[in-house]
Amino acid sequence: MKAKLWGTRGSIPAPGPETIRYGGNTSCVGVTLSDGSLLALDAGSGIRSLGLSLGDEPARLHILLTHLHLDHIQGLVFFAPAFRPQTEIVIWGPASPEASLRDRIARYISAPLSPVEVRELPCDVSFRHCPETEWEIGPARIRAASVSHRGPTLGYRIDDGDSSLAYIPDHEPALGADLDQLEEDWISGFDLARDASLLIHDGQYSDAEYPAHVGWGHSALSHSLTFARRAAAERTVLFHHDPMHSDQFLDELGAQANRDWVDLGGRDGAVEIGAERTEYELAARALSPAATA
Ligand SMILES: [Zn+2]
Ligand SMILES: [Zn+2]
Repeated sequence: MKAKLWGTRGSIPAPGPETIRYGGNTSCVGVTLSDGSLLALDAGSGIRSLGLSLGDEPARLHILLTHLHLDHIQGLVFFAPAFRPQTEIVIWGPASPEASLRDRIARYISAPLSPVEVRELPCDVSFRHCPETEWEIGPARIRAASVSHRGPTLGYRIDDGDSSLAYIPDHEPALGADLDQLEEDWISGFDLARDASLLIHDGQYSDAEYPAHVGWGHSALSHSLTFARRAAAERTVLFHHDPMHSDQFLDELGAQANRDWVDLGGRDGAVEIGAERTEYELAARALSPAATA
């Protein structure tokens, strides 16, 4: 299984010279399973580049949405494969008592926000609420679970062979809780991340910034690291960067993260700041970063 970061930013795209290394596109991770099947985790503005990378190939792919905040769906109407009749897309996401997944997404893909309506998309697109129990896509087992954020929000875990990827980009597991002391069963997202080969996790705030953002649905650095340590993730990528965080700020945050991780007893270099276009080759509890494009 391979994972490639196509958008690492949270909240709103933040392009510009000060974000050029870590990237300005909002959340999207492309996952290639061991049989070549393709999944996209979230459809932020990064999915536009993922779509272009596929060329004109007929494609069947699954898009797994954590939730419907704009930074996780805004790329859908700029995803080139959706405009080809030979493409088949299955969009998975959280159920809500309010309306179906299709109807909630159609609030964005409709006038006046969009020039096209869902029914006008040339591709074959279907919408599915994530089941409560594990399901299969190709050779992978997929699990979704509700996590602590604002509104119905899921985290995902993908197991393919002996390797596992946990994806929890919008997450405030420490809201009203002491993550150090909490029993595992009570930690939001714990089962998704347990012993994961790679954990891609919310890294929105520094510890100094967090007190002004309690309840906004995101983590301080120390929360992300404590969560990763409790879950015993092999490697952690901090993701969903605040739009105010420049490359220089993120360099410093990454250095701090590694120092703190080592202080917690972790392996040096096992925590990093997610950078757009970085690709990871996941193996069983041992992972080598591949070349980036
Ligand atoms: Zn977000
Ligand atoms: Zn969100």
